[in-house]
Amino acid sequence: GAIARASAEAPDLKVSFEFFPPKTQKMEDKLWASIEKLAPLSPDFVSVTYGAGGSTRERTHRTVARMVEETPFAPAAHLTCVGASRAEIDEVAQAYWDAGVRHIVALRGDPPNGIGEPYAPHPDGYAYANDLTEGLKKIADFEVSVSAYPEQHPESSNWSVEIDNLKRKIDSGATRAITQFFFSPDVFWRFQDRVLDAGISIPIVPGLMLQPNFNGLARMSKMCGVSVPAWYAGLFDGLDNDPTTRDMLTATLAAELTAELRDRGVDHFHLYTLNRAEIASSVGRILGLHQRQKPESVA
Ligand code: FAD
Repeated sequence: GAIARASAEAPDLKVSFEFFPPKTQKMEDKLWASIEKLAPLSPDFVSVTYGAGGSTRERTHRTVARMVEETPFAPAAHLTCVGASRAEIDEVAQAYWDAGVRHIVALRGDPPNGIGEPYAPHPDGYAYANDLTEGLKKIADFEVSVSAYPEQHPESSNWSVEIDNLKRKIDSGATRAITQFFFSPDVFWRFQDRVLDAGISIPIVPGLMLQPNFNGLARMSKMCGVSVPAWYAGLFDGLDNDPTTRDMLTATLAAELTAELRDRGVDHFHLYTLNRAEIASSVGRILGLHQRQKPESVA
């Protein structure tokens, strides 16, 4: 089957892992244990998110800086436009460059009052992700990744608005787009067709959400305009008190999705790890990533 085919040697496959900055010492220990477990999969890069409204500015910086110093990974720092002036954002970006970080995931960020509330740019700020991308490129020659939405960003009124926005981000200097999560390969294929029809040629990297808490996932999907197929939801019926089975299902479904995407030429997967190792590690191993090269150890 598709999963078995996917586990063949994978010399050209890439994976990247997304983490969030830990809040407590305990969470930090867990993150670093996860990083150690995921190291044998030799990620192309790892990224660290930026809390809503810049609330994790220091923690994101500390986590990324530690990755530069203590791991063989190339870290990417997420950065958003929300709640800060251009001068403040420029300062954060410069500090990343000075710390050896060469890759930024440039985002607008969600409205400070929450997803679904109206968005108003900071009066002295970067308004949208394309403005931020342009600003970053003026500071230094960062590699810039941006977001893409296979089911449209909730604030885009139609597909031409959505695709034009992606194009603006590319014209501003982005060289990779990482997608919002999705559950059905068809969603990705339809989006890829739209992107190709628009003449966009940068890599569109599918983002895979490894959230085994189905109720939380369903809530988040609704807020983000991501559709959860009925068959997917049905698989989690009655598992509210069974986290082990939910983990297994999440890993299996993600492995199946990567296998289907890979069968049709996708060669880079971005895994939203939630700072846990086991599910991401299973998916990566099924892709054969641990066999590509000699694992480097985390210091
Ligand atoms: P943009 O690409 O700027 O677009 C947002 C919306 O604005 C679109 O509907 C677009 O069409 C519209 N738009 C763009 N330009 C204009 C304009 N000039 N006038 C009017 N409308 C316009 N959030 C965080 O807070 N921290 C993170 O670390 C983080 N990481 C993420 C990683 C990925 C891979 C993804 C997919 C999302 C992430 N997010 C993160 C969430 C993201 O911040 C939200 O989805 C946010 O609502 C949109 O950000 P964006 O960069 O996609 O916005």
